[in-house]
Amino acid sequence: MADRMAFFTTPRAERARRDARERLGDGQEVYRPGSLLPMVGGQAGRCMDCGLPFCHSACPLGNLVPEWNRLVAESGTGGEPGAGADWQAAAARLLATNNFPEFTGRLCPAPCESACVLAIDGAAVTIKNVELAIADRAWEAGWDGPRPPERADGRRVAVIGSGPAGLAAAQQLTRAGHATTVYERADRAGGLLRYGIPPFRLEKHRLERRLDQLRAEGAAFRTGVWVGRDVPGEELRAGYDAVVVAVGATACRDLPVPGQGLSGVHQAMEYLTWANRVDEGDCPASPLSAEGRHVVIVGGGDTAADCLGTALRQRAASVTQLDINPRPPQRRASGQPWPVHPKVYRETTSHEESRAAEAGPRVFEAATVGFEPGPDGRLAAVRFAEAGPVDRSPRAGTERSLPAQLALLALGFTGPEPDRRLFAQLGLATGPEGTLARDDGFATATEGVFVAGDAGRGQSLIVWAIAEGRAVAAAVDRYLRGWTELPAPIRASARAFTV
Ligand SMILES: Cc1cc2nc3c(=O)[nH]c(=O)nc-3n(C[C@H](O)[C@H](O)[C@H](O)COP(=O)(O)OP(=O)(O)OC[C@H]3O[C@@H](n4cnc5c(N)ncnc54)[C@H](O)[C@@H]3O)c2cc1C
Ligand code: SF4
Repeated sequence: MADRMAFFTTPRAERARRDARERLGDGQEVYRPGSLLPMVGGQAGRCMDCGLPFCHSACPLGNLVPEWNRLVAESGTGGEPGAGADWQAAAARLLATNNFPEFTGRLCPAPCESACVLAIDGAAVTIKNVELAIADRAWEAGWDGPRPPERADGRRVAVIGSGPAGLAAAQQLTRAGHATTVYERADRAGGLLRYGIPPFRLEKHRLERRLDQLRAEGAAFRTGVWVGRDVPGEELRAGYDAVVVAVGATACRDLPVPGQGLSGVHQAMEYLTWANRVDEGDCPASPLSAEGRHVVIVGGGDTAADCLGTALRQRAASVTQLDINPRPPQRRASGQPWPVHPKVYRETTSHEESRAAEAGPRVFEAATVGFEPGPDGRLAAVRFAEAGPVDRSPRAGTERSLPAQLALLALGFTGPEPDRRLFAQLGLATGPEGTLARDDGFATATEGVFVAGDAGRGQSLIVWAIAEGRAVAAAVDRYLRGWTELPAPIRASARAFTV
């Protein structure tokens, strides 16, 4: 039996990362291989198995956190490490709620940990690491193999978009017996897992492995097919019994300041896509490479951090990050009480690497006011000023310039790309927030057409995309059969814990 006082006697321990400088020399994941498994039993043992597990409700998937913690918790009676753990049962519980735990275990910001009861006044259980250890062990042991349906039911479903929402929907629908085809305009499937998130955070063989599993279960993929252009939406409606639109929300926010059109000023997504293409072996070097250049990243979120880590690996001369927001507090502020996922100062692995390489500062309260050309007409400098405390407008008299040959705009996303043809062909409308309109059951006003993932929610998280994919599959299954046994972890209107 696990030690009931482990939360008291065992300190929280993080998974070991490789040396920051070593990481910059390769494109591999930043964590030290093999470092997770030996510590997970002790960390899982810190779980108090609370009567009301808030971690479980903070996870949009409803991951059964205390259950798998208990199953892999180390014996507190001095046995061998891992004694008494039942990894296979833990894997079964994890896979019951999450199609892709190896993605969330690596990439989720873990709102569950913010809601862990231990986080009220101490250090949360390392839920995400436990999840990842179970997920990786399940793959190694073959417990997460293909699960094809026992019989096909003759109904056909088209899924547009192969990000985590589309993939989760396709997997659930295929396993339920529907013949499912995923249409993807890019040459490879995966959405932002493929061409957004860099390989040092998700090595792409993990994505390939999942796609192989989906194919082995019976899902079909048609990559390089842009629905709305290469195949009309009407053709999908006529040829399939239902259509799931999971096209993401990748319309990039612009920065309308002088010089924004200069050569050398690019959207972060353009830059990250090229870097991922180099990793895929499509080209020897990125045409937007940061190598030898002074780089300025405008923006302060995860996309900016991914640009930072990528530019450092491309051996930029310097990288400065300009964030218009004030530096967040070190600890949870009173306005963001437990169990909400608080906005606090976080240093990503890219920031850690930047510090180790002395690559350049992360400047807060910095309003970018323009891009300046050099004699060759290309970008030569970025002008910025201190941001005012209320409206974030530039304060007079505080302007200065930074030399830059590459500026990357990572200012967030406004919603799905406005694809008029696709919208007209499928009768899709946008709501006041710019996302695709749907009811609480993911259905649009067009018979048989559903919307899932960032396309309906706005740019969000992988865990939400998977939850949407699972829930839309249940909605489609019910639409097709009149009943469903598929789980629906969320409604379309569900939101993260807020105050
Ligand atoms: C740089 C970056 C880093 C991120 N890091 C994290 C992270 O660490 N953790 C996290 O939880 N979240 C992260 N996110 C957010 C997360 O990636 C998204 O919330 C998630 O991928 C959304 O999934 P989705 O399936 O809805 O859409 P997407 O992943 O955007 O996939 C949509 C797919 O639809 C395809 N498509 C669009 N239109 C058509 C069409 N007409 N025909 C055919 N195909 C079409 C697109 O090509 C794309 O492949 C990150 C986002 C970015 C941009
Ligand atoms: S998917 Fe994210 S929120 Fe859910 S248990 Fe895993 S780390 Fe926590």
